[in-house]
Amino acid sequence: MSRLQTLKPRLGTTPSRLSIIQPGSWRTDKQSSTARGYSYKWQQARAGYLALHPFCAYCLREVGICYDQEAVAIGLQCTKAGIGLPYAQLVDHVIPHRGDMKLFWDSTNWQSLCSTHHSRDKQREEAGG
Ligand SMILES: [Zn+2]
Repeated sequence: MSRLQTLKPRLGTTPSRLSIIQPGSWRTDKQSSTARGYSYKWQQARAGYLALHPFCAYCLREVGICYDQEAVAIGLQCTKAGIGLPYAQLVDHVIPHRGDMKLFWDSTNWQSLCSTHHSRDKQREEAGG
């Protein structure tokens, strides 16, 4: 039973060892950590959303395909319609968040867009829409 006694102190050192290895501990200059964390969080959220909604909502709307269905089903309909898969590059806010963090992080206010549609949308907005 002397074996168990030697195990105890060994386990005790584990947490302190783990605390040394902190993910992202490189590049943590205090000045821009908030801004960087924000954009990193957004990048993660955006990537996750794009994985679930890989196609441009506007492209699909233009050809009359509901984008609220499985990617495979959308792909089949695109093929039928004779168009390539309209992959989205970015996530846009349906209602412009204008700094409103609640709106910003509300995934029901997100839509996947291709860069063409995103820039077109932006221009429309800047024109006073
Ligand atoms: Zn598009």
